Amino acid sequence: MTYERQNISRLAPYTPGEQPKPGDRQTVKLNTNENPYPPGQAVVDALRSIDGETLRRYPPPTAAQCRQTIAQAHSLDPKQVIVTNGGDELLRLAITVFCQPRADNPSGAATGGLGIATPSYSLYEVLAAIHDTPLTSVPLLDNFELPDSFAGKLNDAGCRLAMVVNPHAPSGRLGPLDRLERIAQQFKGVLLIDEAYVDFATRDALPLLATDKGLKNVLLLRTLSKGYSLAGLRLGYGLGHPDLIAALDKARDSYNTDAVAQTLAIAALNNRQQAAQTWQAVTKERDRLTGALADRGYRVYPSQANFLLAQAPRPAKTIYESLKSKGVLVRYFDQDPLRDKLRITVGTPQQNDALLTALDSL
Ligand SMILES: *Cc1c(COP(=O)(O)O)cnc(C)c1O
Repeated sequence: MTYERQNISRLAPYTPGEQPKPGDRQTVKLNTNENPYPPGQAVVDALRSIDGETLRRYPPPTAAQCRQTIAQAHSLDPKQVIVTNGGDELLRLAITVFCQPRADNPSGAATGGLGIATPSYSLYEVLAAIHDTPLTSVPLLDNFELPDSFAGKLNDAGCRLAMVVNPHAPSGRLGPLDRLERIAQQFKGVLLIDEAYVDFATRDALPLLATDKGLKNVLLLRTLSKGYSLAGLRLGYGLGHPDLIAALDKARDSYNTDAVAQTLAIAALNNRQQAAQTWQAVTKERDRLTGALADRGYRVYPSQANFLLAQAPRPAKTIYESLKSKGVLVRYFDQDPLRDKLRITVGTPQQNDALLTALDSL
């Protein structure tokens, strides 16, 4: 006898990348796509300024100032912004608000669900399973581009929400904007474009939110975890049409983001140029590492993110394990079509050199 719902009993939970023990500064950690540089000085100063009184009170319930700052950063209206406990909360909220649980379909039809392209961020399917909403997976093309049939297949399956990550994880590919626009036009549900890595890319999908596009079903996900070196803070946000944002806002926890996160997010976004310096350093290293891996026989996919997907010249799993034994952590996914590849977060020049040295000594 178990107490949980059947879909939870059946659930294979999300497996996060390994985290070294607290205090371990030895491990070269290139496995969870964190920014290798510390957050900007403005963020650290804002953290120091937080006092006991700020913590005694509940945080601003609608995160008004934080939303104002985010809106301003993107030339949007605060009504087009929702702040969440990491980007992951926005993914969960979007399924809660836009997808239908199976049990609400008396006909037994598998409609009302989530549509994704595979492979991508594996949390998407876990969240669909938690909500017991139908999942439609469409395989990506060999170069990790979305197939032209994507929106049509999702419409046929009656999907109410699509999640597309751009730049794509785990390949780093930046898909063309006109393709996303076409999908948004064709798809009958909400198109969530997960831009977790967009700070490292040459362009974003914000133009799709322009009023003259008339697209009311586009929701962009952003996070401070990657570009702003604040994965430990847990702050993300959604950008979209005020009606979408209002629907999401109804379903979120009353105090979903805390006072510290709101204060530091404001400091981070008001001092964007401090983070932008790290984006430059990371993209420069990304290009160097791409070349260095190619020299060693790896096939590296062109990346606009802070990680590289590299097809290995020898069994990738063995390389992953050997690197781990040498104190270098990268990410290995034991599933097709990723089984012969490694996903490597771009680190500091020193970390990347340590990786290359370790590879040369295998
Ligand atoms: C990191 C990431 C997110 C959001 O992460 P949070 O830390 O919850 O903000 C969303 N999507 C993808 C693909 C990611 O890699």
